[in-house]
Amino acid sequence: MTGRIPQTFIDDLLNRVDIVQVIESRLDLKKTGREYQACCPFHNEKTPSFTISPVKQFYHCFGCGAHGSAIGFLMDYENLEFPEAIEELAHSAGLEIPREAGSDFRPDPRKEDHYSLLQRADQFYRAQLREHAQAAKAVDYLKQRGLSGEIAATFSVGYAPPGWDSLLRHLGSDTETRNAAVELGLLVRKDDGRLYDRFRDRVIFPIRDRRGRTIGFGGRVFGDEKPKYMNSPESPVFHKGQELYGLYEARKASQKLERLLVVEGYMDVLALAQFGFSNAVATLGTATTPEQLERLYRTVPEVVFCFDGDNAGRRAAWRALENALPILRDGREARFLFLPEGEDPDSLVRDIGREAFQKKTVDSVPLSRFFYASLSQQVDTNSVDGRARLVELARPLLQKLPDSVFRDLMLEQLSQDSGLNLKQLRSRVFGNAAAVPQHTPRQRTPGENRSPVRVAIRLLLEQPELSGQIQSPCGFEDLELAGTGLLVELLEILWQHPHLSLGGILEHWRGRPEEKHLARLATQPLEVPADGLAEEFLGATQRLLEQRTLQRTEHLLSRERDRGLTETEKTELKQLLVPHQPISG
Ligand SMILES: [Zn+2]
Repeated sequence: MTGRIPQTFIDDLLNRVDIVQVIESRLDLKKTGREYQACCPFHNEKTPSFTISPVKQFYHCFGCGAHGSAIGFLMDYENLEFPEAIEELAHSAGLEIPREAGSDFRPDPRKEDHYSLLQRADQFYRAQLREHAQAAKAVDYLKQRGLSGEIAATFSVGYAPPGWDSLLRHLGSDTETRNAAVELGLLVRKDDGRLYDRFRDRVIFPIRDRRGRTIGFGGRVFGDEKPKYMNSPESPVFHKGQELYGLYEARKASQKLERLLVVEGYMDVLALAQFGFSNAVATLGTATTPEQLERLYRTVPEVVFCFDGDNAGRRAAWRALENALPILRDGREARFLFLPEGEDPDSLVRDIGREAFQKKTVDSVPLSRFFYASLSQQVDTNSVDGRARLVELARPLLQKLPDSVFRDLMLEQLSQDSGLNLKQLRSRVFGNAAAVPQHTPRQRTPGENRSPVRVAIRLLLEQPELSGQIQSPCGFEDLELAGTGLLVELLEILWQHPHLSLGGILEHWRGRPEEKHLARLATQPLEVPADGLAEEFLGATQRLLEQRTLQRTEHLLSRERDRGLTETEKTELKQLLVPHQPISG
């Protein structure tokens, strides 16, 4: 994907936008010296370790390791694809994205049409709720469910009139528009080619993406007709497993969300909002997917899943648990609220009121308890066999957890439940490697990490202008030493673009494994004072040249022994053997 937008445009874009402004409009920043700090949006923390450097145009979290340029920030924070993030930045900078010849990246014009078409449908349904002769039915339904006009407006609730062609006629006779409406699932095409409205005589709930654009609709009948709920089908802009109904509205309602409630239906989200819980989101008729979970935990540290208390509800809760395990890093919490038989959050909050419902969310079951309670039900923990079986059941699940304090606590719980001591258990579950404490500080040998390649790269990342200290060719291109290729590539980029920031540099490695190494290196402390950088850099490149001379000399000498040298090689060897500078005693 990277290649399709010219790299020079990305360089230029990152030179023009300011990462501080990009992040500032989304997080509360505090200035500390030359940098800015904030509480990290990617992990839960009380004291800020998320640092933004205006000079380097780079952010880095010392807590969770998140890092990147303005582009990377938008991708992670707004959940955008790479081209979308570029688009957003280019738009804010008033730049037009050039298109490389033969490239197939361009903002998909059809997608744009899709969004505007969905918006038209959205406006149509909303107008029908106000104007249609039969809209009273919908209004009564909403009132009877206790929803105020304000809540209906917040969620842009609409009404799809009865009849087969209300929206169809509204959209007009343009063939392309009609085809697009079919692709988006607004209209359905019959076998004989005729079209009709998908949503008829239903309350309409527009589903919005993270940026507030309508991407699909949900519709609910008024009575007991089937199907009770109907969603837009998958379309080029609507992917059920990735979206959460109400997330856009929840984020809009509160700058500082701490917790999200995951419920099943639209009406649950609206009823909870009516009672002051503007932090509920609904999955769209699917099990909670890993993508949805990732989205939830990027927004808040704590997620409370509301499920029916019956067997089906418990199975759904277990699936959510299994999907959550791999992403439960420290600071992320999952809890489960099991509803009384026959209740959904909508009915429950209306029955018991705000306070009592609030208490229920606070008293919800922590994941660890639900986890072991569910597993223990499958075995007899009073018998040795049963306890062994418990360990076997827990093992593959615990293995999914990232290495964390939470994982240790889960293991401790298993140790109590199984009677196995913690050490045995750790090696049983995670293998022998994990049995030894992992955090013994490694012995540092002097000179480690001081490879001249590493030093030179580290310094260039700190101060890209240092590349001007040496010229192309640098003379150590063919040195056989780990990282030399990377250093040379970096130099070549900087020779062409000496004013790139660190953020801009790393974009050249987007999607390549080296990016991570470079970013990690860039955030390691510098052991050189600011005014000594140039000298240190020249020293490192000098050492590289010396090593290259040595390597080449040895190579030629061994070749001389093996098969003799050509004339050119002989001349080269002679030159290499003449010391450039006499070594003074
Ligand atoms: Zn972080």
